[in-house]
Amino acid sequence: MNATIAVLPGDGIGPEVTAEATRALRAVADRWDHRFELREAPLGGCAIDAAGTPLPESTLELCRAADAVLLGAVGGPRWDDPAARVRPEQGLLGLRKALGLYANLRPVRVHPALRAASPLRPERLEGVDLLVVRELTGGIYFGDKRRERLPDGGERATDVCAYETAEIERVVRAAATLATGRRGRLTSVDKANVLETSRLWRAVTRRVIADEFPDITLEHVLVDACAMHLLRRPADFDVIVTENMFGDILTDEASMLAGSIGVLPSASLGDPVPGRDTRPGLYEPIHGSAPDLAGRGEANPLGAILSAAMLLRHSLGLVREAAAIEAAVAAVIEDGILTGDVAGAGAPVHRTEEVGAAVVGKLTAVKEAHV
Ligand code: NAD
Repeated sequence: MNATIAVLPGDGIGPEVTAEATRALRAVADRWDHRFELREAPLGGCAIDAAGTPLPESTLELCRAADAVLLGAVGGPRWDDPAARVRPEQGLLGLRKALGLYANLRPVRVHPALRAASPLRPERLEGVDLLVVRELTGGIYFGDKRRERLPDGGERATDVCAYETAEIERVVRAAATLATGRRGRLTSVDKANVLETSRLWRAVTRRVIADEFPDITLEHVLVDACAMHLLRRPADFDVIVTENMFGDILTDEASMLAGSIGVLPSASLGDPVPGRDTRPGLYEPIHGSAPDLAGRGEANPLGAILSAAMLLRHSLGLVREAAAIEAAVAAVIEDGILTGDVAGAGAPVHRTEEVGAAVVGKLTAVKEAHV
């Protein structure tokens, strides 16, 4: 197939890990006869330096026109002044909103060879293969915010949490569709014993699943209990769907199951566009720009490479090629070709580009096995 992919390496280790992800994409294109046009543009701190804004119009235009967007990470101490008018994260939030990306997917799989890197006991991690789908463009992060002075000299701060039926329906549909292709279990997380938005969330979820996904097994879990169950019985979860703030917190907690944030990918999806056979999406490793590692060639590129696999699956529909990247990554982990964050005490430590090259090497082997 022919596809245009916008590549936004960003700041810190972003360019280093993105280089390995694009290498994997080029290897896929080469071996399966696709034509991927990879077009780079600045986003975040580097865009502030170059153009005075974290999301230049030319970057946004490129992303709108592209079939999918691959991102590294943005931010760093250089642009961290809280009083600054323009900040790198504004670029990322602006891009997600402009592209209508409302469903954030974070899969967490724990490879047996990496169990020792997790703070949880290895026996708890057996069989962990879960996907959190977080609502990304609504809720308290996007509601009205106010600060007012009080007569007693103090202040009152208010953040409004609001959800509408349609916002809940579309993300629940996205999650249920994904659950249908997995083990068919959906856990909806809310705080319905306290919050009105959660009561609406629960009612809408129940109706959508009953009306449209009769084969899905649905359970409702309160967010505080879910935080506990994620540590106590993580292997029981298949797909978790939840609102923006709960998802923000639970996904970081869930990421610790895998041992390092360096190995985890993410996708942010919008609705399919009529007339296009690709679906808009933004793909990025879940980690930040890791200024402590930037420029050293030590960052783990697997999260970025697995994000490229998600791009192939969800935006381009190239399921076989996505699975090939995932199999190549698993094989590299089994061979112990790992960066320092997951290598384990006394084991050899490999550089970012060695890990990327090993994945490309395995892709060739995977292809030979399948063709
Ligand atoms: P971080 O994810 O950058 O780093 C946290 C820790 O994890 C650090 O010790 C880092 O060395 C390590 N780490 C991160 N990625 C790694 C990788 N690929 N391989 C090995 N180790 C890795 O989070 P932070 O330190 O809180 O934030 C640093 C900067 O990144 C900040 O400016 C923050 O705003 C930004 N940030 C950006 C994004 C994004 O672009 N989506 C997300 C989170 C943070």
